[in-house]
Amino acid sequence: MLHPTFATPDLTTFCRLDELGLVAVGQLLDPGRATIECRVVDDDPWCRKCGAEGAPRDTVTRRLAHEPFGHRPTTLLVRVRRYRCAHCRRTWRQDASKAATPRTKISRGGLEWALRGIVVDHLTVSRVAAGLGVSWSAANAAVLAEGKRRLIDDPTRFDGVTTIGVDEHVWRHTRLGDKYVTVIIDLTPAREKTGPARLLDMVEGRSKAVFKQWLAGRPKEWSKRIEVVAMDGFAGFKTAAAEELPDAVPVMDPFHVVRLAGDALDVCRRRVQQDTTGHRGLKGDPLYDLLSRHRSRLTHRGAEPLDQHALGLDLRATRVGDVALCVVMEDVTNREGVDSTGYGCAGSVGAGAVGAWCCR
Ligand SMILES: [Zn+2]
Repeated sequence: MLHPTFATPDLTTFCRLDELGLVAVGQLLDPGRATIECRVVDDDPWCRKCGAEGAPRDTVTRRLAHEPFGHRPTTLLVRVRRYRCAHCRRTWRQDASKAATPRTKISRGGLEWALRGIVVDHLTVSRVAAGLGVSWSAANAAVLAEGKRRLIDDPTRFDGVTTIGVDEHVWRHTRLGDKYVTVIIDLTPAREKTGPARLLDMVEGRSKAVFKQWLAGRPKEWSKRIEVVAMDGFAGFKTAAAEELPDAVPVMDPFHVVRLAGDALDVCRRRVQQDTTGHRGLKGDPLYDLLSRHRSRLTHRGAEPLDQHALGLDLRATRVGDVALCVVMEDVTNREGVDSTGYGCAGSVGAGAVGAWCCR
């Protein structure tokens, strides 16, 4: 800070109450909780029914959980003025919708903090609930509603999508309910190298029907713009894509190509081990640590871990498919943009590379 400009300490701006249309008028600090007394800034004296000016009648208080400051749950005690119309005798409360939606117990600032905590900082719902000073179920319901409002109901989230990826994910690690969800990813930014892939949707279950139903629910104009669908080797996803998106090219995404090729290479390694030594890998055997080496050190030359002389093997003597497999491994792992999610360069893996190991 070369030219710092300090302002007078101000609880309203520090707690970002100005963004909620509130002003802080008092504070009550306990070791485990802070309470800030606030008033709604904007007057709201005009009768919504007849338009006459109402007279202030009394105030009611509303408690709102706000974002915590310094690991201390912060509660807003909002004094809301009530008016009464002298003309039509109607009563109403000051509009506090900028601070929180009606009948909720968490401020908009608190909701944003909770949603950001879950989505960006990967906090648990318990931690978010403790931060807000509310129950687990209240925090969970609020985060789900806010996430739906800001992320799922966003009308622009399907715009500009030309490449999608689909995969299954183990969602529930218990015996209760459906274990899997089908995850649909927008791979367009990764393909065009404009940014990371982003989550489009998650649907309960994993089957052809689930993906087909999701695709059928999209507008026709949107479906026509899809050029590539990346997926794992599950035939159901492929058939669903072929039926709903006949013009799109189905491809296997790099993550699954690398994994399947890696698994096949491992089978090959074990077989060669048995063929050459007659027993499973022991320390000192040339192929003993090939698995770890091909995963961590396969370079763009691809030859180093498979150096025949170092391994004491003659790879020419192995089956043609095994060598093709090694070529696939090198080819796929060296493509730019293969990241930890494996979705980096979906669309660029040709069917030939996949076929090379499939046909062995
Ligand atoms: Zn009135």
